[in-house]
Amino acid sequence: MKSSVSTAPDNSYETVKQFIDGGFCESDSKATFTDFEPASGKPLCDVMISDARDVARAVSCARRAFDEGEWAALSTAERAYYLNTIADLMEARSEEIAVLEARDSGLPIRFVKGGHIPRAIAHFRYFAEEGQRLIGEVYPLEDAYLNLVMREPIGVAALITPWNAPLAVTSMQMAAALICGNTCVIKPSEQTPLTTALLGEILIAAELPAGVVNIVQGAGNPTGQALVNHPEVDVISFTGGMTTGQKVMADAAKGLKKLALELGGKSANIIFSDAELEEALDSTMLCMFANNGEVCTAGSRILVQRSLFDEFADRLKTRIGNLKIGNPLEGETEIGPLISRQHLQRVNEFIDLGVAEGAEILCGGNNVASDLQEGYYVQPTLLGNVHNRMQIAQEEIFGPVAVIIPFEDEDEAISIANDNQFGLSAYIWTKDTKLALQTARQLRVGTVSINCPMIRDFRVPFGGYKKSGLGRTGGQYSIDIFTEIKTTCLPVNPYQFPRLGAIGDA
Ligand code: NAP
Repeated sequence: MKSSVSTAPDNSYETVKQFIDGGFCESDSKATFTDFEPASGKPLCDVMISDARDVARAVSCARRAFDEGEWAALSTAERAYYLNTIADLMEARSEEIAVLEARDSGLPIRFVKGGHIPRAIAHFRYFAEEGQRLIGEVYPLEDAYLNLVMREPIGVAALITPWNAPLAVTSMQMAAALICGNTCVIKPSEQTPLTTALLGEILIAAELPAGVVNIVQGAGNPTGQALVNHPEVDVISFTGGMTTGQKVMADAAKGLKKLALELGGKSANIIFSDAELEEALDSTMLCMFANNGEVCTAGSRILVQRSLFDEFADRLKTRIGNLKIGNPLEGETEIGPLISRQHLQRVNEFIDLGVAEGAEILCGGNNVASDLQEGYYVQPTLLGNVHNRMQIAQEEIFGPVAVIIPFEDEDEAISIANDNQFGLSAYIWTKDTKLALQTARQLRVGTVSINCPMIRDFRVPFGGYKKSGLGRTGGQYSIDIFTEIKTTCLPVNPYQFPRLGAIGDA
């Protein structure tokens, strides 16, 4: 099988193809789009567009592999073997995958190598194990009946993923869907098609049965929409922005499809005056500026108790000013380019909007050094003199741009933190455990980190309140998304139930 993606040192990539029925193939229309490299703004490669016909082909292969293939009938131990093989093969190519991910996304290689790729590999290993915990329940009814509650795969899963953590998000959904016995069709973002395409090569090497995983390439319209609307898709796992999530939900509703949504955030990072200052600063920098600030859980609203505000803001400005902006492939780089010219423009517009709303640029701003102007770079920026009702404090900017807002006491911090349409995560810094727990309890968010950055434990639920999503991923919560639950009732003792129509029978 000819491979479609490889890291060519001379920068020449083959046209990336879709992956259907166990192999790479051309799309029906043969039309392509260009994938650009964020660091240079130059074309990286061409990618074939999967239109509605290609999506239909991918879904029908996944359907056949589910209905007629061996996958759903394999034991979880057998499926786990494939997941572990995929993890082994990824590990063997991890250096190459990391470079590809960093080039395609603009994410600094230090975060890709240290976080995204090891995490992607770990997802396959984790769900291989989680499969062994796919247990059922038994409800005995008055010693007469047993109700057996068992989980079954749903069928064909559509996995639609974003550009900010391409392989890390795809691997989580894919590993969970597969271990439960589903087949799937994956649609990565058109901005970052490469590592998901490379996954096709890994699947061939792992000898995964044909049709179990299919990968279509292209934009939300037509590719994503065609996938969501396809009648033979049974469950949709979507990770992306709130507005797209609303569209996906409306389309999924037409087919009454099971849907999980992992959407955006505008997380509060609450720093009380008794916080361990140096650690709070380290965590604030990490939670806000790692991965170029293009993180759903970014602590982009930094709330600082008034008595500490000036000192914290000053020290934060110094740290932000020291961040090393540059080529994502250089190990020293802390801030790489944003994903696209369009996104760069959007982030710069938010900085301008902040100033128009009355905010003050405490550091950064929308100019970058002349040697970085070809790529999609923005300066990490801190905006002060901000009120929480300003748009820059309400909307997800999804870049290295944070606002800093003072608060008087616990009640005000909670009220500001909750005054937002999103509810994904929050951070609290204080030495007072009682205060931390009282505050955490009142925050309307899915995950709270106290005196630590966001730590992802694959066993625990992750997801959002309010407009940050529907459902949870992680451990058994992911299994809930990708399984149906069936109850089977059987008698164990004779039971005296009414015999309708039997009056007068001997
Ligand atoms: P996006 O624009 O909403 O796109 C997400 C995915 O949906 C992409 O593959 C996109 O394709 C596709 N898509 C677009 N329109 C569609 C449609 N009508 N039907 C089906 N699919 C469609 O999001 P993004 O800009 O890639 O990602 C950033 C967002 O993701 C942020 O809001 C971030 O907070 C969120 N996110 C959330 C989590 C979480 O776990 N909660 C994790 C990571 C990211 P194209 O890109 O090819 O158009």
